[in-house]
Amino acid sequence: MSHLIGRPLPRLAAIFLLFAAMLAATLTTQFVTAPKAHADGCYTWSRTLSEGAVGADVEQLQIRIAGYPGYGKHLAIDRDFGPATKAALVLFQKAYGLPATGIADGTTYNKIYALQDDDCTPIHFTYAELDDGCGGSGYDGGPLSAADTKLNALKTMWQLEAMRHAMGDQPLNISSGFRSIPCNRSVGGASDSQHLYGRAADLVGSHSLCALVKQARYHGFGGILGPGFSGHNDHAHLDIRTSNYWSAPSCGI
Ligand code: ZN
Repeated sequence: MSHLIGRPLPRLAAIFLLFAAMLAATLTTQFVTAPKAHADGCYTWSRTLSEGAVGADVEQLQIRIAGYPGYGKHLAIDRDFGPATKAALVLFQKAYGLPATGIADGTTYNKIYALQDDDCTPIHFTYAELDDGCGGSGYDGGPLSAADTKLNALKTMWQLEAMRHAMGDQPLNISSGFRSIPCNRSVGGASDSQHLYGRAADLVGSHSLCALVKQARYHGFGGILGPGFSGHNDHAHLDIRTSNYWSAPSCGI
C-alpha cells in the first residue's frame, strides 16, 4: 500500500487538476456545436408562407400538415395556401404547442425538420414498412409508376404521423401497405383497392381497432374500414381517398 494514502494532495498537483478541469470546461463550450436551425437533409423552406402564397414550397408544407384538416375533411395538396391550409396549419401548430399563427415561419419549419427523416418520411414511419403487402416490391408492380406510388405512400405516412401524435405517441403497427397487383390478388384485396396505389395502410395493435378507426376521422382519411365491416374484424383499414367511405359497424361507425 502506498505511504501517500491519507495525506493531503500535494499543492502543486491540486493546482494542476483545477487547471485541467477549467481547460476541459472551456473546450466543451467551444467545440460542442449547436444543431443547425435552418437547413435540413430532406427539404428546406426559404421563405415564410401565409395565406395567398402559391408554389412548390406550399405543396411541401401541405403534404406535412395534411393530417390536420379537421374532422371528416381532406386538405387538397394543390400548391395554393388558402383558408383550408391555414386552418390545418393552426391545428398542426396547436398539436405541437407552437404559437397558433397560421403562418409557416422558422418556428414551424424547425418543428417539421425535427419530425422528418432525410428521405422526407416522418420519423416514425418508413417507405419499407408501407411496402410490406407481400414482403415488399420496392413500389413496383402497381397501376402507377413507382415514383407516383411512393408519393402517395409519403402522404399516407404524414397523415399517420398526425394520428400517431394525437393518440399519445404510441406506435401504429402496419400489417399491410402498398401491394403490387399480384400481391393484392393473392390476399383477396378488392380489384380497385387503395393499397394498389400506395394510399392505404392496415393497422393493428397498441390501440383498440375501434379507437383507431374513430381517431382516423380527424386526420384526413377518406377510407376507414374496421370491425363489423366484411373482412375487417382483425385490422383497421385507412386510406387517403378524398371522399368519405367509413364503415366499422361494431364501433358505431
Ligand atoms: Zn386495407
